[in-house]
Amino acid sequence: MIMNKTIIEKWANIVTPFYYYDIDLLKQTVETAKKEADKRGYILHYATKANASPKILKIIFAAGFGADCVSGNEILRSVECGADPAHITFAGVGKTDTEISIGLDNDIFTFNCESIPEMENINRIAETKGKIANVSIRINPDVDARTHEYISTGKKENKFGISAWDFEKVIEKLKALRNLKLISLHFHVGSQITDMSVFAEACSRMNSFNQWFKEQGFELEHINVGGGLGIDYQTPDKNPVPDFAAYFAIFEQNLKLYQGQKLHFEPGRSIVAQCGSLISRVLYVKEGKTKDFVIVDAGMSDLIRPALYHAHHHIENLSSYGVERIYDVVGPICESSDCFDKDVPLAETKRGDFIALRSAGAYGEVMASQYNLRAIPGAVFSDEIFTD
Ligand SMILES: *Cc1c(COP(=O)(O)O)cnc(C)c1O
Repeated sequence: MIMNKTIIEKWANIVTPFYYYDIDLLKQTVETAKKEADKRGYILHYATKANASPKILKIIFAAGFGADCVSGNEILRSVECGADPAHITFAGVGKTDTEISIGLDNDIFTFNCESIPEMENINRIAETKGKIANVSIRINPDVDARTHEYISTGKKENKFGISAWDFEKVIEKLKALRNLKLISLHFHVGSQITDMSVFAEACSRMNSFNQWFKEQGFELEHINVGGGLGIDYQTPDKNPVPDFAAYFAIFEQNLKLYQGQKLHFEPGRSIVAQCGSLISRVLYVKEGKTKDFVIVDAGMSDLIRPALYHAHHHIENLSSYGVERIYDVVGPICESSDCFDKDVPLAETKRGDFIALRSAGAYGEVMASQYNLRAIPGAVFSDEIFTD
C-alpha cells in the first residue's frame, strides 16, 4: 500500500478510526488467486466471514469466486453481492432451521455437515420442501494447524467436523436419509497457517478418507480443503500478495484425486487481509516511567484481533518521519487487553498523527462491536478518494 502524504491529505476531513481498503491490491490478489486456481482447474469459494463489505464482496464475486458462508445472513449478503448460489458452501456447527431453509431456498451448492443430528435436521427440512440437499461431510482430520489455539479447528478436541471413528455411523445414516445426497468430503483445519506441512499432513489424511469412502461405494465428485492460508503480518509490504502458486502446489503434490474429482478451496484471510488498514489518530502521548504510551482513537472494539488472539499487526506512524522511539500503542477502552502492541518503534509521535494498523482487512471490520457504546468504524476505499 502506498501510504504517503497524498493519501493523508485526502483523509484530513474523515472521522477516525476508519478502515482503509486499497482496491488495486484487492483486485491484484483476487486475480492472482483466480489465475493460479484456473491453471489447475481448482474452484474457489471466498469465505465471506473474513470481510463482508458489499463493495469488497462484489469485486470478489465478479472475478468468479463462489462463496463459503457460515450463517444464513452471509448467504443472503453473498447472493445480493453477486455470488452464484450454485457455488455457495454453507459451514458451521450450529445451523438453525431458518438458516437451513435459506440454504435450501437458494439451492446452494452444498451444506458442509458437522454432525449426525445436523444431517437429520437438514433431511427433515429438505423433505418438507420436497428437495434433495447436497451435503458434504466436514471431516475432523485431527491435524495440528500450529497456529493460535482459538483459530485451530482440525484437532479431535475441537468442536468442528466429524471424526473418522464416526464415519460408519454416518454412512448408515446417509442410507436412511432420503433427502440428502453426499457429494463431497471437506476439511478446514485452521487459520493463519504458515507452515505448509500442515496442509500436506491434512492431504494425506484426506487421501485415506477418500479411499475409504470409495470402498464403501461412495464415489464423490468433490473434495473441499477449506481455507487457512496465512499472510505476512510482520512485513506486509514485502508480501502484499500471498504465494498462491506455492500453496496450490502443496495440494497438487499431496492430494490424490480420483478421475473427475474436483478440488475446492475456501480462502478468506489470504484474499482480503493485506488490502485493509485500520487508520486512527493519536489522541495523547502519555509519558510513563519506563516507556511512553501512544493512545490512539481506535480500540479493541474496532479491531479485536490483538486482544483476542494476541495477533500482531504492523503499526506505522504515517505523519512523522523523525527519529524512532519505542512506544506501547493502546486504545481508549477500559480493558487492559485494549493494547495493539508493546514496544513498537515509531517515528517521534505527537497528538493528531495518523497511525496505521496494517493487514487489517480480514477479521477486522466484521468483528467490530459497540463496546463502550463506541461508533462502528467507517470504511474508505482507495478508488473512491482518488477519483481523478
Ligand atoms: C473461516 C473459514 C474459512 C476461511 O479461513 P481463512 O483462514 O480466512 O482462509 C474457510 N472455511 C471454513 C469452513 C471456515 O470456517
